[in-house]
Amino acid sequence: MFMRLDLSCSGCRQLRLLDRAYQCTLTAGSLDEACGQLLCYSCSRAHSIITSHPCFRVVGLDSRIMAGVIDCPYRYGANLTPANYMKHTRSCNLRGLMCPMAMCRQKPFFWNTLASHLIDHHGFFNENIPYEGYKEDIPLIRCGTGVVLEGQEEYFVFFITETGLYFIWLGDAEAKHDLPSFLLKVHLYQAGSDGRPREELGHYLSPHPTRIMDVIHLCVIPSVANINITQQSFYLRVLIEDRA
Ligand SMILES: [Zn+2]
Ligand SMILES: [Zn+2]
Ligand SMILES: [Zn+2]
Ligand SMILES: [Zn+2]
Repeated sequence: MFMRLDLSCSGCRQLRLLDRAYQCTLTAGSLDEACGQLLCYSCSRAHSIITSHPCFRVVGLDSRIMAGVIDCPYRYGANLTPANYMKHTRSCNLRGLMCPMAMCRQKPFFWNTLASHLIDHHGFFNENIPYEGYKEDIPLIRCGTGVVLEGQEEYFVFFITETGLYFIWLGDAEAKHDLPSFLLKVHLYQAGSDGRPREELGHYLSPHPTRIMDVIHLCVIPSVANINITQQSFYLRVLIEDRA
């Protein structure tokens, strides 16, 4: 019934035509196989710069794309609509993920195997999240490590680098269909000389757009004079609430 769409760009082979398709105007008498083919924006720009061929956006394709279905890049037969394609590819439970820790960069992991890799291999703390009220004094010892807060078949990962505090949601979005987004409030504290939370360094207070698996930058760690950030200990205060 639906038209199954191939939205890969003829230049880079990435599924980028969903976000506007372009075509070189030289469709005959060309020596370049990209001429006359559908290209993504960046490939069409590169093509125009190299060949001086003008490229135009293929406006007539938009309505055809909106009426069709697209396959999940990780599993055949998913029948995604263009409207939910982008969200699905970032939250698909079959998406291969690379370990985000510097000097590791192992891959591929899936949402559940990445969480256990961070705990077992990188020494991340592992605690449960109650989904109501603040969870206080979560230890986040040193840069290059972090904490995995375990929810119901999902993980909320926080880690610190020399420049900032980062967050990743890991989970099976298909099993969480009815819970598209959540409220995320995070406060980052520096530990005092007694090892207890002392000064607030930064915070992030915002609804998280959706349950997608991307690295999100939460806040910058201010540079403190005479303090080597790699020698510091940190604590988090975290509130996670589902938005109905
Ligand atoms: Zn391209
Ligand atoms: Zn051309
Ligand atoms: Zn999928
Ligand atoms: Zn790793």
